[in-house]
Amino acid sequence: MSAASIATAAYLVAALLFILSLAGLSKHETARQGWTYGVVGMVVALAATIVLTVHDSSVRGTTLLVLGGAVVIGGAIGLWRARIVQMTGMPELIALLHSFVGLAAVLVGWASYIEVERNGLGGFTGSLLHIHHAEVLIGIFIGAVTFTGSIVANLKLSARIKSAPLVLPGKNILNLVALLAFAALTVLFVVHPGLWPIIAVTAIALLFGWHLVASIGGGDMPVVVSMLNSYSGWAAAASGFLLNNDLLIVTGALVGSSGAYLSYIMCAAMNRSFFSVIAGGFGIEAPKGTDDGEQGVHRETSAEETAELLAGAARVVITPGYGMAVAQAQYPVAELTRLLRERGVDVRFGIHPVAGRLPGHMNVLLAEAKLPYDIVLEMDEINDDFADTDVVLVIGANDTVNPAAYEDPDSPIAGMPVLRVWEAANVVVFKRSMASGYAGVQNPLFFRENAAMLFGDAKTMVDEIVGALAAVRPVPAFA
Ligand code: NDP
Repeated sequence: MSAASIATAAYLVAALLFILSLAGLSKHETARQGWTYGVVGMVVALAATIVLTVHDSSVRGTTLLVLGGAVVIGGAIGLWRARIVQMTGMPELIALLHSFVGLAAVLVGWASYIEVERNGLGGFTGSLLHIHHAEVLIGIFIGAVTFTGSIVANLKLSARIKSAPLVLPGKNILNLVALLAFAALTVLFVVHPGLWPIIAVTAIALLFGWHLVASIGGGDMPVVVSMLNSYSGWAAAASGFLLNNDLLIVTGALVGSSGAYLSYIMCAAMNRSFFSVIAGGFGIEAPKGTDDGEQGVHRETSAEETAELLAGAARVVITPGYGMAVAQAQYPVAELTRLLRERGVDVRFGIHPVAGRLPGHMNVLLAEAKLPYDIVLEMDEINDDFADTDVVLVIGANDTVNPAAYEDPDSPIAGMPVLRVWEAANVVVFKRSMASGYAGVQNPLFFRENAAMLFGDAKTMVDEIVGALAAVRPVPAFA
């Protein structure tokens, strides 16, 4: 059996493992198994590529050295980053990794053009040559958009640039002009290949990607992360066509389509138009209601008062958010839940689909703290129960419990479904200050009569409540 047939068979196995991996990752119970399939698939794919390269007679020793060096250095950096990254830093790391895929696609496009030119068109003639030229420009375009778009997403997610949407005058026209210019330059390049259309497309795509993501507001960033995931998949598939690598085409298409579907599901959950988000906020005008100042008088409470309130409650709902993850408060929260349940209090959790900084963030943290699955409910499962709830503890959440989403049509998060915590008898908000949440919008909940602010680090505050609860005797539940 030749090295090429062994590699083809191995690529087929790897592609199947990637499909099984995606299927496994779609459910909590099978996620670990899905991850294992993914890792094994990638090892098989890498080994097959190395075998293929070793048996290629045109490949010299230096190429193998470069290949080995890239695998070792890249693998070591990946391992190091994955080990040190905090759970809260995952989305920006993912965005950075997407930018590498984009950059790789740009480099593959350029290398492929240079290679074909240098080797006297390397066997490409007639329509094949035209197709190759179109592939080069499409690959470079998708790759460059993914590259700068992912860098902007990384900067926004790590708060190094502001998360508010950039609204340039005539931004939709600018996007349209960029797309038309790309189409015209591709046709020109196919007919008259040359260096300057490639340079122009690379520059336009870099600016277009930057503008596309800069135009999207903080509240929509979860969709952007999965959208860039999809773009990176298409960029990899485009590289696969240029490198004549079937596995790269299949894997890229898998990532591209699953990322697009995830973006679609997230848009539906957040009541956003899929088209406007993937088109860089197309049709979205500058929000008028970005007032992040104080909107009334807020009331403060203490850990002792909160412990007393909880001791007298029959039904408690905890809605965690990004702040719980930052404070690593999930362990004392689990302890508090145990103590309250021992006292006969019905404690449940309400999880917003975009709470935290990545899909499923809160579920992972709560599972880490060994909280039973059956008391952790999705937003739709719990939203109608708040009116019958005695106390809601909003632990480090802000945008996901903001009534402005329902009540203020000018708010940047208008129309996004949120947890209706304000319908409960009492709401205690755990945060450190009156600062706004990720979307940069002030929260009118903090100024409601039934709400009280518990200022301080979420972990310290929950620890104090756990301590104070021991001193509070159980009292009958209030009506
Ligand atoms: P928010 O970012 O809206 O609010 C978090 C709150 O936690 C802040 O108001 C902050 O207030 C508080 N906080 C921070 N650190 C601490 C601490 N140590 N102790 C106590 N409180 C703390 O979080 P939500 O989870 O409500 O909403 C998520 C937001 O992130 C949404 O806008 C969503 O669109 C966006 N997003 C979600 C992604 C996803 O896929 N899930 C991806 C990217 C963005 P203070 O500073 O005063 O303490």
